[in-house]
Parts: sequence; C-alpha cells; structure tokens
Amino acid sequence: MRYNAPKLLNFHKLTVFMYLPELETLKAQGLYRSRQIIDDKTVVNFCSNDYLGLAKNETVIAAFKNAADIYGVGSTSAHLICGHSNAHHALEEELAEFTGRERALLFSTGYMANLGSIAALAKSTFLSFKKEGFVFEDKLNHASLLDGALSSDATLKRYPHVDLKQLEKLLTSVSGKKLIVTDGIFSMDGDVAPLRELAELAKQHAALLMVDDAHGFGVLGKTGGGLVEQLNLTQIDVPILMGTLGKAFGTFGAFIAGSETLIETLIQSARTYIYTTALPPAIAQATRASLKIVIAQTWRREKLHSLITQFKTGAMQLNLPLMPSDSPIQPLLIGDSFRATQMSLQLLELGFLVSAIRPPTVQKNKARLRITLSALHEPDDISRLLESLHCLNKLEN
Ligand SMILES: *Cc1c(COP(=O)(O)O)cnc(C)c1O
Repeated sequence: MRYNAPKLLNFHKLTVFMYLPELETLKAQGLYRSRQIIDDKTVVNFCSNDYLGLAKNETVIAAFKNAADIYGVGSTSAHLICGHSNAHHALEEELAEFTGRERALLFSTGYMANLGSIAALAKSTFLSFKKEGFVFEDKLNHASLLDGALSSDATLKRYPHVDLKQLEKLLTSVSGKKLIVTDGIFSMDGDVAPLRELAELAKQHAALLMVDDAHGFGVLGKTGGGLVEQLNLTQIDVPILMGTLGKAFGTFGAFIAGSETLIETLIQSARTYIYTTALPPAIAQATRASLKIVIAQTWRREKLHSLITQFKTGAMQLNLPLMPSDSPIQPLLIGDSFRATQMSLQLLELGFLVSAIRPPTVQKNKARLRITLSALHEPDDISRLLESLHCLNKLEN
C-alpha cells in the first residue's frame, strides 16, 4: 500500500501528521496495528517466541554483562571494516558445528539474512541467475523471504502452501537456474514444511534449496538443531540453512549456514551483510552461552513438547478451532479480524497475553489468535488459558 506524502499541520506549536484516509480505512476494517507496552509481570505471556525461556536466563544474562565489560556496547562498524570480533567469529564456528555445516555467517537480523542472501544468490556468479533465474516460494513464507526474491534479479514463483504437486509443475514449466525457498516451521500457522520431499524435488530439478528454520532451531531435533536435525538432512540436501537467534536462543540476530563457497559468496555480495553494523559482540557472547544451554538442557525441549501436547489435547476436547500444528506455535483460527482483536483484549483482561494476527500478515478471513508456548510455562498456566478460551468461545456460540 502506498501512502501519499503526509501533510504537516502546525497545531499549538506541535507538528502533527494529518490522519490519512488510508489509516481510517484500516481502522474500519479492524486491521489497524498498534503497539502494546508489555509488562509480563502481571500477565502470562503466550505470544513471545522465547520457546525455551532463554531470553531472561541468568547464565545468558551473565555472559552478556561480562562481555559488555570487555567489548563495550556497540560493535562500531560492519563486519568487513572493523566490527568482526573474536566473539562473533567463535559464535560462527560454533553455529557451523551445531548445524553440521562447513561454515556459518552472522547477520544482524533474520530479516536482513533472508533479504540479502536471496538477492545475492540470485545475482552472484555462484548461481549466475541474471534474468533466467527463478525463485520458488511457498505462499505462506515469511515476508523477508518473499522480499528477498522480489528485490532480486530472479523471477518469483509462489506455490500454494506445501503443495508439492504445484511446485513440481512450476519447476517443470521453466528452464534456468532454480532456487526453492521455504519456512521450516511456518511462522503464523505452526505447521512444518515437507522438507525431505522438498529436498528430493530440488535434487530432481537441479534446484538449490533454502530453509528458514527460525522457529525450528532449539525446538526440534535431539540437540535443538531444528528440522534438518530431526529429519537428518545434510548440507547436500539443504545447502542453504537459515536460523534466527531472537527466538528459541533468546538473544538477537541470525545466521546462514552452508558450504564454504556459499558463505564466501555471501560475504562478497550480500548487501545486508556488507552495509550494516555488526551485532554487538556482547550479544554474540550471550548467544554462545545460550547455544550451550540449547544443546545441553534437553529438559527444556521435553517440557515444551509436553506443554504442546497438553494444550492440543485440551483444546481438542473443548472444540477450540485448533490449526494442524505440533509446534509451539498453536494458532486458533478465528476468521474475523474484529473478533480476533476483541478476544485478544478479553484474554488480556483475564491475565493472558495472546496476540491477534490479522491480514495482511495472514490471508483474508483467516485472522487468528497466535498462541505460543514456552518451556517457562507451567501446566497450570495452560489449563487456565484453556478455561478462559473455552469461556470466550461459549459466549460467542
Ligand atoms: C522472525 C522471523 C524472521 C526474521 O527474523 P528477525 O531476526 O526477527 O529479523 C525470518 N523468518 C522467519 C520465518 C521468522 O519467523
């Protein structure tokens, strides 16, 4: 959507923006976005992506504080100038080992990792995409993956959600270099990509495969290595693997893992890597501490999965509109945007923070309550949330 240049009004010495008709339209449609100041001391938070409860972990906080004493606050420049500290480098090596890939490269955010990598791969000599390249993406892929393809030289082809038949048709219909891109766990639905089949398809069509496992890392796999660990998929099966650090790792930032050639290509050509300030080194140190916990403290994953089972079983018994997901993302499909927002507010009054997700983040008439579970929740929190959801649901029907 395009906004016209805002008109400035001088009003009691205050410069204010005039309300644009577009903003009013969004309000009328129940799609206006506003921010909430979160105080999760008084409510139970069911919308964070802190799946393992590491964002406020003492050991991670201590690592962050110690590193701040050593490195200071800012990294002071991009990685290629003087922003690449031994903390960043050590984390990259540990992430490579963790993911079973040759190398890993840190990015300042997941959005930038996706945006820059896809565009770079579509341009680079690595793929020499130019105009004869195609990026195939699941319709429900994260916005950053779609934006990456849109900002590239390649042609974007979107296939219906996890529809391998349609993807195969599309792959067959064009000739040129091909890159298939998918979320691992879909961020607003919580379901999992058929990654083994996608890897097979990619091989058959000589396409590269990129997986964004932002929600799988820490959560899936024996050591938290995500969907590729769970399915035992190697660097050959999934050559481009992306993960974020702001979710289960509880810190901030992101990485791409893959071959030596891939990483060197990105260092040379990913604009969102080259032209931005490196993560604060203390964040890298905190993430190293968090990575150790992700791998070692398997109880966090076990507890999380038992809470997921408890929630799903309870919600099914209560006939709540669950969506097919086994992940910590457990959306309830509401449909109407106003209703979803209203329920979110009602839940807040009852002491639960649950976000309403509306279009354009999800499709029209598919507004939902996106409930996310964390190893920090207790079975009693889940029971009380289910009770409240049941009450709201009964009031409606
Ligand atoms: C959160 C998320 C991102 C973006 O990561 P940030 O580090 O928050 O920028 C990318 N892809 C998916 C699937 C995500 O859920």
